[in-house]
Amino acid sequence: MRFLPVFLDLKAGPVVLIGAGELLRAKLRVLAAAGACLRVHAIDGNQDLGLGEAARIEIAAGDPLTADLSGVIAVVCAGAGDVGVAMSARAKSLGLPVNVMDDLEHSSFIFPAIVDRDDVVVAVGTGGTSPVVARRVREKIEALLPARIGELAEFIGGFRKSINERIAEFPLRRRFWERVIDGPIGAAVLAGRKDEADAALKAISNPSEFARADKPEGSVVLVGAGPGDPDLLTIKALRALQDADIVFHDELVSPEILDRIRRDTTRVAVGRRIGKPGIGQDAINKRMIEAAQSGQRVVRLKGGDPFVFGRGGEEVEALRAAGIAYSIIPGITAGLGGAADFEVPLTYRHEATRITFLTAHKARDAEAVDWSTLTDTRMTVVVYMGMSAAPAIRAGLFAAGRSPETPVGVFARVTRPDAQGAIGTLRDLPELVQRTHGGPAILIIGDVVRHAGSLRRQTPKQIISDLLDAAE
Ligand code: SAH
Repeated sequence: MRFLPVFLDLKAGPVVLIGAGELLRAKLRVLAAAGACLRVHAIDGNQDLGLGEAARIEIAAGDPLTADLSGVIAVVCAGAGDVGVAMSARAKSLGLPVNVMDDLEHSSFIFPAIVDRDDVVVAVGTGGTSPVVARRVREKIEALLPARIGELAEFIGGFRKSINERIAEFPLRRRFWERVIDGPIGAAVLAGRKDEADAALKAISNPSEFARADKPEGSVVLVGAGPGDPDLLTIKALRALQDADIVFHDELVSPEILDRIRRDTTRVAVGRRIGKPGIGQDAINKRMIEAAQSGQRVVRLKGGDPFVFGRGGEEVEALRAAGIAYSIIPGITAGLGGAADFEVPLTYRHEATRITFLTAHKARDAEAVDWSTLTDTRMTVVVYMGMSAAPAIRAGLFAAGRSPETPVGVFARVTRPDAQGAIGTLRDLPELVQRTHGGPAILIIGDVVRHAGSLRRQTPKQIISDLLDAAE
């Protein structure tokens, strides 16, 4: 390690900043955000620093190389050219820490990439070798850290003194905070419900006992996994998968998504597949509740969105009845994934002003649908679980008076590498279904299907072979 990361109190004295142009202004923003008292030498004479009337900034006149540096705590040069090099020698001779931007040789300290969440600050360094790599690492950390992690630190800060007074032993105090942060109180702060968290923490009458309880409080998170592409997981979903002790997942959830679960997490497949019975909804509810009651952090991972044909509503009711803390993280439902994948806008000015999401599990269900409510030609109909019922769907829409020429798309395995679509008219629906070769699929019915883009996700191999064909 060439540089030790430390956090510097910039209020202790002025920082001298020397340079020009956008580089100077960028450093100025970083230092000003940290509350620095700044003395700025703009060596190009342009004193428009783009910061308005910031009180702690003093524009210095005169040559920085001869200026008085008494009381100064650090020197920073950004876009200062040769002046930076000379300033570095001067600062070093005075024992002052100095940074010359992009110049390791003349710097005695360097700036990390920063993740700033109020009280929580993460500094990422690469020893000055590659600021771009440091920025990439920062982006990954940004994505992983809850937005309100700073508020959580502040919340805990507010109670620290009183808890310290009530729990004498340090290890027990630490256990107390771990339980608060990992449990429903921490979750409430991160969800922006500070009042609720505040009340819950104040309601802990015996903090030592709370810390000592051998069972942590369990909880369940219903997580929407999206239609298959793991990059379509939300940042929140990803975090829940990383935090879980046990994941109950549907069969439909893709292996690439299961790969995002923490390695030592228990995984239980509970979903049904057509033809094969699953463990049944009541059994799923029961196992989820038992896992949470034993203190585990449970994730119920469901394809698409939990509240779109996913029985999420029933699971929530069961959790409420059992008094288990729960939360819901939405996911991208298959209909939206398919629309994006095959470039079918579900609404379109003047052409499509309504969307219906419909399930037609079996022909029997399809017969139960009141098709007469679906005759509006400006309504886009998205059908889930409609593959085997395709003939019944067609019959229902014909009987309701929809034209046989109504455009229809069948989109299978959407957002996955082997996604495939077939487009035609309502008349050809059963045949279109045949052409997509199985797997989960949605149907989109309505004029908007005319706008569909490419039906085949091209792999690099296909692109090359197409190019070769064209060249022949
Ligand atoms: N909750 C899920 C739907 C579960 S019902 C969601 O919001 O997407 C299962 C049905 O979803 C399947 O029969 C199929 O119609 C649709 N489906 C799920 N994943 C799909 C995918 N990758 N491509 C196409 N359809 C999909």
